[in-house]
Amino acid sequence: MDKAMVKPFLKAKNTLKKIGIDLQVEDTFRYKSVQEEQYKKSLLPGSKKTGLVAHPDSSYHPKGLAFDLAQIPEMKDPKVSTVLKKLGFIQSRPDDEWWHWSLP
Ligand SMILES: [Zn+2]
Repeated sequence: MDKAMVKPFLKAKNTLKKIGIDLQVEDTFRYKSVQEEQYKKSLLPGSKKTGLVAHPDSSYHPKGLAFDLAQIPEMKDPKVSTVLKKLGFIQSRPDDEWWHWSLP
């Protein structure tokens, strides 16, 4: 995780903890090689992730500026997104990738 993200991320975690929500993250920093592998896989015919995985050069994961929430109902609680937005995080694809958050 990039230094720029550590502070707002921990703040989000603590704020949510106070209202009884445990911020659960599935994925944050990704090595560029891993992103590249996921990107290539997403382009294979039949992949459900076609168009959803960013190119390794444009993804915020290798930069340490993005994280993916665990895909569980608790993380869909609107309080989670309210807190994250307040701390400056953005959702680039709220409709088909609601779990992905990054710094702008
Ligand atoms: Zn992501």
